[in-house]
Amino acid sequence: VEEVQDVISPPLPSVEPLHSHGRWGDTSSYAAKKKHQSWFQLPNGNWELGNILSTSGAESIVSLSDGKVCSETNPDILDGVDDLMQLSYLNEPSVLYNLQYRYNQNLIYTKAGPVLVAINPFKKVPLYGNDYIEAYRRKSIDNPHVYAITDTAIREMIRDEVNQSIIISGESGAGKTETAKIAMQYLAALGGGSGIEYEILKTNPILEAFGNAKTSRNDNSSRFGKLIEIHFSETGKISGARIQTFLLEKSRVVQCAEGERSYHIFYQLCAGAPRALRDKLNLKSANEYNYLRQSNCFQIDGVDDGDQFHVVMEALDIVHVSKENRESVFAMLAAVLWLGNVSFNVVDNENHVEPVEDECNNLAKAFLVVMYPLPYIFRKPGLISTAKLIGCDIVDLKLALSTRKMRVRNDNIVQKLTLSQAIDARDALAKSIYACLFDWLVEQINKSLAVGKRRTGRSISILDIYGFESFDRNSFEQFCINYANERLQQHFNRHLFKLEQEEYIQDGIDWTKVDFEDNQDCLNLFEKKPLGLLSLLDEESTFPNGTDLTFANKLKQHLNSNSSFRGEKDKAFTVGHYAGEVTYDTTGFLEKNRDLLHLDSIELLSSCTCHLPKIFAFNMLAQSEKTVVGPSHKSGGADSQKLSVATKFKSQLFQLMQRLENTTPHFIRCIKPNSFQSPGIYEQGLVLQQLRCCGVLEVVRISRSGFPTRMSHQKFARRYGFLLLDNLASQDPLSVSVAILHQFDILPEMYQVGYTKLFFRTGQIGVLEDTRNRTL
Ligand code: ADP
Ligand code: MG
Repeated sequence: VEEVQDVISPPLPSVEPLHSHGRWGDTSSYAAKKKHQSWFQLPNGNWELGNILSTSGAESIVSLSDGKVCSETNPDILDGVDDLMQLSYLNEPSVLYNLQYRYNQNLIYTKAGPVLVAINPFKKVPLYGNDYIEAYRRKSIDNPHVYAITDTAIREMIRDEVNQSIIISGESGAGKTETAKIAMQYLAALGGGSGIEYEILKTNPILEAFGNAKTSRNDNSSRFGKLIEIHFSETGKISGARIQTFLLEKSRVVQCAEGERSYHIFYQLCAGAPRALRDKLNLKSANEYNYLRQSNCFQIDGVDDGDQFHVVMEALDIVHVSKENRESVFAMLAAVLWLGNVSFNVVDNENHVEPVEDECNNLAKAFLVVMYPLPYIFRKPGLISTAKLIGCDIVDLKLALSTRKMRVRNDNIVQKLTLSQAIDARDALAKSIYACLFDWLVEQINKSLAVGKRRTGRSISILDIYGFESFDRNSFEQFCINYANERLQQHFNRHLFKLEQEEYIQDGIDWTKVDFEDNQDCLNLFEKKPLGLLSLLDEESTFPNGTDLTFANKLKQHLNSNSSFRGEKDKAFTVGHYAGEVTYDTTGFLEKNRDLLHLDSIELLSSCTCHLPKIFAFNMLAQSEKTVVGPSHKSGGADSQKLSVATKFKSQLFQLMQRLENTTPHFIRCIKPNSFQSPGIYEQGLVLQQLRCCGVLEVVRISRSGFPTRMSHQKFARRYGFLLLDNLASQDPLSVSVAILHQFDILPEMYQVGYTKLFFRTGQIGVLEDTRNRTL
């Protein structure tokens, strides 16, 4: 295989002349661009290609609009290359331009060495479906594609008998989930036959309904991380699958920002439930539920929630969630919605509250609606409906929402709650029910997809996990997400270095191992015991008097010597992540980390007559026996004691890394080209920032220290041999190649001669290419 093939082939026939894109200047044809253009940086930081007026030394004077600048440009034949490694000059503008050039032609996939870069087209692109799958299977197309990388994974799984992983990363809205589905589609097509592949594909609409929501960045944003492990039999057929999910954002159930939505399934249920189900659940339309109403957003452009409901129903059926269980699921969803409508009245002069009893008899209701339509519409208490739906006594529900049992020394006392405490208790219950429901559903799906005992074959895992996040205000969620990304980045680095260096060794070149810039320091900052971010967080979470402020102060006290850490004013601190610095505001850290549900609520669920709440309570109690976070019993709290969120997440992550460590990884980096979710817009600054963040430029940078350009002796001699000034005694490709290298004074440290190939540092081929073009 000649990696350099594409370097020396002319541009794809379908390539349009540059002028058709307007903004690139008035070059009248592709060929006219030759040698007369260079990169030009505009005051806004964007790069454009400009016309070279004159050149002296390394500097070029470039004209475009009204500015001047110097920068290197790539030889023309490298325009729109499908592997960034082929760019002779690996600078940011070249990479940006190359990707944009391809993007404008719907070539959304580009390789960056071993990594596949995917730029979200935000429109249907004609690159998918059976014909394409078939073409990639037969290898009659070799353009970079998710299908191609998935195909490689299948082949390597079979050839090497090693499990594979496809690791997809990128920021919200970059296309990770779509990419994961495209990969699954390919696996299903190639490994299908038993019918189980159909079930596997149907897990997508289910998980998206329950775990995705409209956010400001993505109308279908996944609010959880997902690993799906697809198993193959020895004959290469899919035999089953297993899904693991990570850290669902449950706060969204009770709270979401203006213009965003809660989880899709709520709206789907409200819009699509058939009559009988509506009556059973006392279901209203979405705008009658406080949890859904608060963000003032009910619809998503181009999506019919009612239709989606039927898609999800059918999918649930296909993964064998029984009719009875489906109804229980919907009852839990309705219970969560009704819970959000429970309001409270102050009942004494100490601000203690009780939930408002609702729904008088029908006659009284009719009377109220007629007489007082407004208060009736705006105040919809949901106590009775909730109690009915989860199957508990209304008095017990009232107590769970307005009191807390405490144990002081050996006495049980009952404390009444204030309004804000009662609202917290209500919301905590709603969040727990939803999160338990989500976990339970994943478990049901896994049962349906289970491989069974005879697991003899191999697997391909697809990881679709949230990318690095840095907002104006960063909280506990970003803290966890970015920690996960540090772990994944380490995996990425280690692996890519390893691969690269193995090839050098195979071809026998003189190679001293390159140390890569690793992020171990930052990982230590998180993981070190007892003085690391996670340990200190857990420690503070167990202190009854611990607050976000005492936590922040402890960090400053113990971690200031760590180079990746910086204390900030007030309750904030900054971490130097591989992808940039992020300042975290510790407000809410302890509470989110403890994630406590009062024992009263758990007891309530376990007393319910419905089977799901019972299962939920059982699972919560089982977990609470494990470890300990949260104010201890001595202080009087009777909360369930359980694993902290951070600890649980960390152990999930360790398991994940261990599993990935035993696979051959394939990396896909998704890029969001604009923040409008619109097709055709390529914002250079935004793309550049992601290329830096997700390590694409890092891979490219790494390759600078290595020898990213390779060409066989034969090819090299054939391509540049005619430039030789002296006649050689021997015409064997190696001698010709070496003579060329000498004639061009290529410095010895710039290349290596391997058994079969020549290896060049970045930029070296460019010099030869320039001369060749001048001579031709
Ligand atoms: P992420 O999971 O990274 O947050 P998604 O995969 O949900 O992002 O993609 C966001 C949206 O972008 C999708 O809903 C879809 O409209 C669009 N999109 C992403 N990838 C593609 C693709 N390959 N082709 C067409 N549209 C896409
Ligand atoms: Mg997603």
